[in-house]
Amino acid sequence: MLSVQDEIQLLEKKYHFQIYKRQPLTITKAKGVYITDYHGNEYIDALSGIGVNNVGHCHPSVVAALKTQAERLIHVSNLYYNEPQNHLAELLIKLSGLDRVFFCNSGTESVEGAIKLARKYAWEKGRSGKIISMTGCFHGRSLAAIAMGKKKYQNGFAPLPSNFVKSPLNDIESLVNHANDGAIAVMIEPVQGEGGIHVADREFLQKTRQLCDEKNMLLIVDEIQCGMGRTGKMFAFEHSDIVPDIITCAKALGGGFPIAAVIARQKIAAAFDFGDHGTTYGGNPLACAAAYATLKTLLDENLVNKAQENGVYVLEKLNALQHPTIKEVRGLGLMIGIELECPVGKIMDKMREKHILVGAAGTNTLRLLPPLVINTQELDRILDALSASIDEVENENS
Ligand code: PLP
Repeated sequence: MLSVQDEIQLLEKKYHFQIYKRQPLTITKAKGVYITDYHGNEYIDALSGIGVNNVGHCHPSVVAALKTQAERLIHVSNLYYNEPQNHLAELLIKLSGLDRVFFCNSGTESVEGAIKLARKYAWEKGRSGKIISMTGCFHGRSLAAIAMGKKKYQNGFAPLPSNFVKSPLNDIESLVNHANDGAIAVMIEPVQGEGGIHVADREFLQKTRQLCDEKNMLLIVDEIQCGMGRTGKMFAFEHSDIVPDIITCAKALGGGFPIAAVIARQKIAAAFDFGDHGTTYGGNPLACAAAYATLKTLLDENLVNKAQENGVYVLEKLNALQHPTIKEVRGLGLMIGIELECPVGKIMDKMREKHILVGAAGTNTLRLLPPLVINTQELDRILDALSASIDEVENENS
């Protein structure tokens, strides 16, 4: 007879588009750093729902904010004003150093909004031109976002929007050449997530900022995965002491509740006229209340500094591991990639058997994005499970 867990998984196969490669786990609840499956087994979550649960699962402040707001006002649309939007916008502006916010619902939407804004800003100045993205980037799955990203996500979806071009990360010469071709904007993840955890050099970001100023290009920074304290700064661009023109954020912003934002300088935001852009749910009061509570928690619990300290701790320990299977360790704060000499699938399975859930970034890179509330004992459990799992695979292959 099928267990209830197996039945749930079979029904998924029957009813849903088959577009997600799911782990064989049915999750029923989660709290802090821990996830519980249908059989009551507990796992350490070292992926945070792909970089979402930075304040931990079901943080009491986020839950309380959702409950209070849900009893007052869930949705009203942007035909009217509401207070939670303003509280969140004010805080995001203060934290980012930019001037204006547009709220939407997913990372892809914020990227799409940023592209439209950059094009409209250029158009108003009588310009049109390419938007430069970085080789290996990932900005989402709308047509424009895949036009900027990897070939493998583009197959079968032509015709794609045009006027996008790629330039290698950390290669300023190549960027200069594209800029000389009349590009209107550059989009960069300060730390590439899906592409395998590749950190943009401080010097590269600083020179990119300078180049954008010289060539009238906008600098768009995609903080969807690396923002919200993940790398040990509220925004990852802060490591390079630059200020972008446009920021996209999502994922951890709502503490698990869907919300995203485009943040821009005033003169750029002004390129959008009434009706140029919008969304029914964007800035939904419930989402804004959750996001405000999440940001307050990041600040009140000092989680950004904790991410920085724990990141140093984990990277030191990872660099000390002696396994021929480990090719390279990369990362910033608690956004860490471990590139292996082999596909990561087997290691992920073995870690799951040890009750540690990790992710992949590409075929050969293990991705660690634990909740920022994690402590060193829990981090040690992840590292021990990783080392033991690699040992097992190395022994099996020898
Ligand atoms: N940009 C980056 C850097 C991302 O990591 C992602 C998602 O992984 C996206 C954009 C797309 O976000 P979403 O999946 O919320 O649409």
